[in-house]
Amino acid sequence: MTTPDSPQSPDRPAAASRAVPPPVPERRRRTIAVSGSASGIGAAVRERFERSGLKVVGVDRREAEVIADLSTPDGRREAVTKTTELAGGHLDGVVACAGLGPHVRPFEAIPRVNYFGALAYLDGLLPALAGGEAPAAVAISSNGATLTPANQAFVDLLLTDDEEGSCAMAATLDGATVYGMSKLAMTIGLRRRTGTWAAEGIRLNAVAPGPVDTPLLAASLADKTLGPLVEALPVPVGRRATPGEIAGAVGFLLDPVNGFIHGSLLFVDGGSDALLRPDRV
Ligand code: NAD
Repeated sequence: MTTPDSPQSPDRPAAASRAVPPPVPERRRRTIAVSGSASGIGAAVRERFERSGLKVVGVDRREAEVIADLSTPDGRREAVTKTTELAGGHLDGVVACAGLGPHVRPFEAIPRVNYFGALAYLDGLLPALAGGEAPAAVAISSNGATLTPANQAFVDLLLTDDEEGSCAMAATLDGATVYGMSKLAMTIGLRRRTGTWAAEGIRLNAVAPGPVDTPLLAASLADKTLGPLVEALPVPVGRRATPGEIAGAVGFLLDPVNGFIHGSLLFVDGGSDALLRPDRV
């Protein structure tokens, strides 16, 4: 039996079956922007996507397509402009991974990168994402956002987007609080964008890792005050994550097949958050 598409179809003229089919238009390669791509989790994300044939536009202070400092307004603008240019105006995914650990001094540098830098990078790339295919973004939060004793005044100040005011307050706090609350405010900032981003057709989610073997964690462990706190954190699965395990969660959240996941915070922390806060969902 023949079908209209089979070579033997009586409906198909012989000349047409020999004709060279018109060239398939070259599809734009799926393009993902990754901040913090030079090290740790960001580098693992880059490697994972490049292995799958995707184009990655990395942003970092070193070893990236775009060298920019996300701690300053000028650096954030440069990161967005150059990333958009290199992506040809269209992005299918953005991963906001660049971040500083709780050991970094002065502490005011932490919210500049982890809150203001992350959100400015995401917001700045929204127009390019809006022109992408099944676009989605993921930010790297932390289980420090939920496991650090809350400082609501600092979170509230961050959420007013008063950069100088919140950085002045950060200078009066300890590194763990500044780090945890910057990640909490950043995650709340994402959740507050759920409606506006969906209206643009873009999904937005976050991953909350526990301890991951990266240079950031090594530096925190080497800190006299923070090291014992990090060591004392119970991790039910009994080990730290590899950067590739966090990249796996990022890949899952960006995958168009998971198009109904929007506004989520995915804990990839070996069970610490559930162990320590079992009744808080
Ligand atoms: P990392 O230090 O290995 O990598 C961070 C990258 O961000 C570096 O390449 C660094 O150059 C870049 N970066 C820092 N400040 C920047 C700036 N101002 N402008 C541009 N780039 C900048 O750290 P990592 O462990 O891979 O951390 C990645 C993200 O994961 C961070 O947001 C971190 O807070 C988060 N996180 C890490 C852990 C962990 O245990 N490693 C746990 C939870 C969350």
